[in-house]
Amino acid sequence: PSTSSPAFRTIDLRGQDLGLAQLRAVVPRLTAGDGASVEDAVRGIVDDVRARGFSALAELAVRFDGVRQRHPRVPAAAISAALEALDPDVRAALSASIERARAFAAAQVPQDVTVHPGTGASVTQRWVPVGRVGLYVPGGLAVYPSSVVMNVVPAQAAGVASIALASPPQKDNDGLPHPTILAAAALLGIDEVYAIGGAQAIVAFAYGIPAAHDDAGELPAVAPVDVVTGPGNIFVATAKRLVKGVVGIDAEAGPTEIAILADSSARPDLVAADLISQAEHDPRAGSVLVTDSPELADRVREQLGILVGQTKHRDRVLEALSGEQSGVVLVDSLEAGIAVCDAYAAEHLEIMTADARAVAGRIRNAGAIFVGDYSPVSLGDYCAGSNHVLPTSGTAAFSSGLNVTTFLRAIQVVDYSEAGLSEVARHIRSLSDAEDLPAHGDAVDARFSRS
Ligand code: NAD
Repeated sequence: PSTSSPAFRTIDLRGQDLGLAQLRAVVPRLTAGDGASVEDAVRGIVDDVRARGFSALAELAVRFDGVRQRHPRVPAAAISAALEALDPDVRAALSASIERARAFAAAQVPQDVTVHPGTGASVTQRWVPVGRVGLYVPGGLAVYPSSVVMNVVPAQAAGVASIALASPPQKDNDGLPHPTILAAAALLGIDEVYAIGGAQAIVAFAYGIPAAHDDAGELPAVAPVDVVTGPGNIFVATAKRLVKGVVGIDAEAGPTEIAILADSSARPDLVAADLISQAEHDPRAGSVLVTDSPELADRVREQLGILVGQTKHRDRVLEALSGEQSGVVLVDSLEAGIAVCDAYAAEHLEIMTADARAVAGRIRNAGAIFVGDYSPVSLGDYCAGSNHVLPTSGTAAFSSGLNVTTFLRAIQVVDYSEAGLSEVARHIRSLSDAEDLPAHGDAVDARFSRS
């Protein structure tokens, strides 16, 4: 194999009948490996930013982003200037992306519901947006103006009044976030943007940064938020996990991953291209092929050998495809492949089989499902209308991609009249006695013995 051929390992599950827990243990995934040291490092950043505010942010910007900054707030003029300087093709593309995402987000806004369980009795579920959100847009190995769209659009559709954005400072943009990120913010009408990267951005949003002073004058505060969302690398994902509970977060959206469920009808060149496009994000990205066709697996390997050598971010791609988190899983049947995909719970799952739509309908666990040859993940990354901030690392088994409800709470409103309460008063008495909480029953009785 040439130096451009990834190690892309094989996990051969043929002839084995594994249950869900066993499958979860064998699918290719990044093991904790550096987990403990990453968590220690992020804990250090959380404590430091909470204790020293802007001074800590300035030091971290030097250490991780190579820039000096006095205050991370991006001046309004820089945001509008970035939009003016934006390449017209990129502007048109962002506008198309925004338009499709807005249509889908608007349709997701849930209706309030009211039921009347008895006479003079009503309960309502009322959806209310959170007051303020902090949205993270990655900008380390790659910059993600598309993530501005993916974060902001559902927050706006939910009706969030105060939206702040953070993205790493860039050395070659005077310490501001990447100009295309600023331009995307401007297109969406966002004017509160901070040049803060990584874990420190998540801490700044979760706890806020109090106002301070330095020799040049005041350093205005960063107000804390209710919810932090957005994708990012392992430091960002870990920080979100650590601040959860202080604020709400969306799903864990860490290093990205793709699984492709394919049979002998799939085109090996497309399978290989999609595996590579995911690996391009991050050396920790996972690219997994699940197939019942050893011939397809061989042909995909051949294609990887050819295509990896031609791709721009070859080193990153090679590292990702050669890692323990990537490889091909060989199974006996499509049926067994579906079980593997459900156990893996991919952030992105592509179905490249005969009758892909029917197969997709049977999948239970995935962040998003891409059906057939003409629905690649790249489409979902930019322009499908769907969201690209999706649960990774198997968390799709219990959480969802970013959507309008991420920014809403369902408040239940109880409104009973005297007649409504009297209809259930004796049941409340029975249950409060059964739980040995008689003051509960007394509180109801007091309403009917006023004389
Ligand atoms: P990033 O913005 O997430 O991270 C850059 C920051 O990481 C830096 O500013 C720095 O502060 C911090 N950092 C770097 N090294 C560090 C260290 N040793 N210790 C502490 N902090 C450190 O950008 P990125 O690195 O390009 O990662 C983007 C990630 O986002 C990729 O993994 C990509 O797959 C992922 N992504 C995921 C989704 C999703 O929905 N799951 C969507 C888009 C992108």
